Amino acid sequence: MEKTIANLESILDNIAAVCARIGRNPEEIEIIAASKYQKLDTLKSLYADGRIKIFGENRVQEMMEKYDPSLTWDFIGQLQTNKVKYIVGKTRLIHSVDRLPLAEEINARAARAGIVQDALIEINSGNEENKGGVEVDACRALYESIRALPNIRIKGLMAVAPKVSESVSLRACFMPVKRLFDEMREEFPDFQILSMGMSDDYLLAVECGSNLVRLGRVLFN
Ligand SMILES: *Cc1c(COP(=O)(O)O)cnc(C)c1O
Repeated sequence: MEKTIANLESILDNIAAVCARIGRNPEEIEIIAASKYQKLDTLKSLYADGRIKIFGENRVQEMMEKYDPSLTWDFIGQLQTNKVKYIVGKTRLIHSVDRLPLAEEINARAARAGIVQDALIEINSGNEENKGGVEVDACRALYESIRALPNIRIKGLMAVAPKVSESVSLRACFMPVKRLFDEMREEFPDFQILSMGMSDDYLLAVECGSNLVRLGRVLFN
């Protein structure tokens, strides 16, 4: 745990430095721990430190095994429609809604549970094949359809950066998502969360306007 706390302190310092340079308030940026492969005891100790309040799991099976209602959980991975029933109501935020049938299933399960489930629309920012997420240009249409569903509330956007390659600039992936987020936020007051940035790119993501970073390796290794 000492190592994780030391890692967290450097992460906070790094974020503060970027924010100072670009004139952002570091308190706007929420850090969630991407907690795959980590034991529940580790997560509870980290929670006890008080600075990490949300844990993000990316596999339904693993989340079910670890689930503890005294912690707050986000679901950040690709989600199969037939597994929605296991996580609705147990997650603060589902980050990865990228198709209408998935949103409809979340809506149906949330209605049955008598709740409104918060979620984000996942954008495929690198336009990669075989990857989750809707294209930037298709996001609005998807949002308009989801908005008609009463038991799911879209609170913003999420993007996973493509694997770094020389030919692709990450900034060129993040900025269109940020522009779309800003446009939609003007119209829709529910739009508050821009989830972008992982261990290798969180500082660039903060520079590009992210207000939620999902950190695994840089925190736990
Ligand atoms: C694992 C994971 C992360 C964190 O990845 P790191 O590179 O370890 O920081 C963030 N988002 C998603 C969707 C993940 O699956």
